[in-house]
Amino acid sequence: KEEALKRSEMLSTVGQLAAGVAHEIKNPVTVLSGFVQLMRQSDERESHQFYYEIMQSELKRILMITNEFLVLGKQHTYIFMKKKIQLIIKEVVLLLKAEAEKNGVNIILKIKDDIPAMICNPDQLKQVFMNVIKNGIEAMPNGGRLWIDIKVDGNKSVIIETIDEGCGMTKETLTKIGTPFFTTKEDGTGLGMMVCQKIIESHHGKITMESEVNVGTKIKIEVPIK
Ligand code: ADP
Ligand code: MG
Repeated sequence: KEEALKRSEMLSTVGQLAAGVAHEIKNPVTVLSGFVQLMRQSDERESHQFYYEIMQSELKRILMITNEFLVLGKQHTYIFMKKKIQLIIKEVVLLLKAEAEKNGVNIILKIKDDIPAMICNPDQLKQVFMNVIKNGIEAMPNGGRLWIDIKVDGNKSVIIETIDEGCGMTKETLTKIGTPFFTTKEDGTGLGMMVCQKIIESHHGKITMESEVNVGTKIKIEVPIK
């Protein structure tokens, strides 16, 4: 009986998500088809240039939304392997270097102990740190520091803490974070933290957050080693 209940709850979550995705994709698709229509009606090259730009940014938006969902879907392939989490994080920091520099953000990576390799899904964890670190960078449009500390908790779990000096979050935002499509950004998808939570859950870990408006945000991710 309990199984049936769990299953129906899961299906309704999936249904809600699917409805949300359809809705979020409908907007850019509507914009795109409107511009295709406009382009058919005018031959002016100059206005075409302008249409192309809007079309490209709307396409980028659809790609962003589908990308976040692809990672969630991949969860079912269970590609767990032994990997050093610090290598994943170093790679992410490298990938986000240009974006950090653009915002004037200085990333300070501290690897405190000799972190053992752990059983994990490296692709998914990469996605988690991409989003968390990117959120930190985006919270500091006027620059600042972003600390990333990696340490072990008595050989039981690895703890990754990111601390930014960004805009912070109100109590209300903190309760809504991770709800599908909740975003305060003009070009946000509001899917990042939901995906992060699902991935960390599938690793039997946990995410905790502390934040203060105009002071900054601390995100703590704990993942068991075995
Ligand atoms: P997105 O980044 O697309 O908005 P996320 O799920 O990654 O979606 O984040 C949801 C919201 O949580 C953000 O729009 C922002 O309001 C808030 N948030 C997340 N991380 C931070 C942070 N480090 N500092 C301030 N706000 C944050
Ligand atoms: Mg995000």
